[in-house]
Amino acid sequence: MTYLPALKKTDPKMRDLIIAEERRQWSKIRLIPSENYASSAVLEASGSVLTNIYSEGYPGKRYYEGQQITDQIETLAIERAKAAFGVDHANVQPYSGSPANMAVYTAVLQPGDTIMGLALPQGGHLTHGWKVNFSGRLYHSAPYELDPRTERLNYDQIWKQAKEVKPKLIVAGFTAYPRIIEWNRFREICDDVGAIFHADISHITGLILGGAHPSPFPMADTGITTSHKSLRGPRGAMMLCKAQYAQAVDKAIMPGLQGGPHNQTTAAIAVAFKEASQPAFKEYAAQIVKNAKALADQLLKHNFRLISGGTDNHLILFETFTSKGILGRDASRALDRAGIVANCNLVPFDTQTPMNPSGVRIGTPSVTSRGMKEAEMRKIGDWINEVLTHAQDEAVLDRTAGEIAEFCRSFACPGMDPHNWADDLPVAAQTGKQVAMSRS
Ligand SMILES: *Cc1c(COP(=O)(O)O)cnc(C)c1O
Repeated sequence: MTYLPALKKTDPKMRDLIIAEERRQWSKIRLIPSENYASSAVLEASGSVLTNIYSEGYPGKRYYEGQQITDQIETLAIERAKAAFGVDHANVQPYSGSPANMAVYTAVLQPGDTIMGLALPQGGHLTHGWKVNFSGRLYHSAPYELDPRTERLNYDQIWKQAKEVKPKLIVAGFTAYPRIIEWNRFREICDDVGAIFHADISHITGLILGGAHPSPFPMADTGITTSHKSLRGPRGAMMLCKAQYAQAVDKAIMPGLQGGPHNQTTAAIAVAFKEASQPAFKEYAAQIVKNAKALADQLLKHNFRLISGGTDNHLILFETFTSKGILGRDASRALDRAGIVANCNLVPFDTQTPMNPSGVRIGTPSVTSRGMKEAEMRKIGDWINEVLTHAQDEAVLDRTAGEIAEFCRSFACPGMDPHNWADDLPVAAQTGKQVAMSRS
């Protein structure tokens, strides 16, 4: 049977590109900590006819007719989100994480109000008050930083700063922080200075739902999460909050910021919550952390310097410049060339530039979705060391790419079936290498 038959007829060029991307995702070790593999069920929901409808408003309060089904779909997603996080209110309409943060700020802040989030170069998100982002332009941003000695949050220092700048809102939750977040400390600080406690759990949602990281809820006043990272859902996001903010955040998204919600995404978010409520998801979350620890230990054996010395979650940030004399961009390029996908990243108090920083950020949600365990992590740690020790050596990169493509054949990717590609001519992958796939 032909795979993607309608595309084959209508737009074979796009079909080739999509299959090439499937092959890439299958044949490489994907370590970008914000990425994952969505299940076939999630992909089915997000590729459904729900994309055909407009449903501005909220269940029971729509502007358009024809909402007999969409109301049920959105209500299901909302109820599952509320139950999963134990929150009073959930809004599943934000198009992605950034607009979700924007909507929360719009709901509870006035332009010019002071916000405190972790500085972007230290692991905060753009939308946590970085100067080129709306959040740093519209609001007065007073970013906090990590402790230079421990490279961890220093809650007493954040408290001291909060007493001085008196923020209206404090954001906790990060993009490159490998340690457990002590939410209760943020609650304490916010209570003391009268700030709103906003938790952005985008990266660690799956860990939280699977019991592998403490939850900020119901402690936090407001919160957001993306649905496509460790939660393994579709591209999307949601806002979660206490009852007192419910009306304000709803209004902030619609009509404040967006028009019609993406119903196909809403449905797929509901599916992701269903999957995350199964016992297997608990194991998944625990394995993500075990894998990250195993990979961290292997990198330490190879004398890489890990930011904060290790990891408690899904993510590892490591130095390549002082450890191996190679800058982050050059390191991540060599790794990709050899079949390991990661991103270069600033490390705390980096002396290099954002375009070619001192470190690399990796994470284990994707490889764990493929069923890889500690033994595979040790192998990956060895490959990373091999590649970064011989980053200029084309022969090493070539050999490693071959080994990794072979290795990856044994680990199925959720949402994909290589038999689908067997009849198609191989499309050159980004490395210029062709990845052979047999029917076996
Ligand atoms: C990924 C992320 C976002 C933004 O999500 P987008 O969907 O890329 O807009 C916001 N906050 C944090 C902490 C994130 O990790």
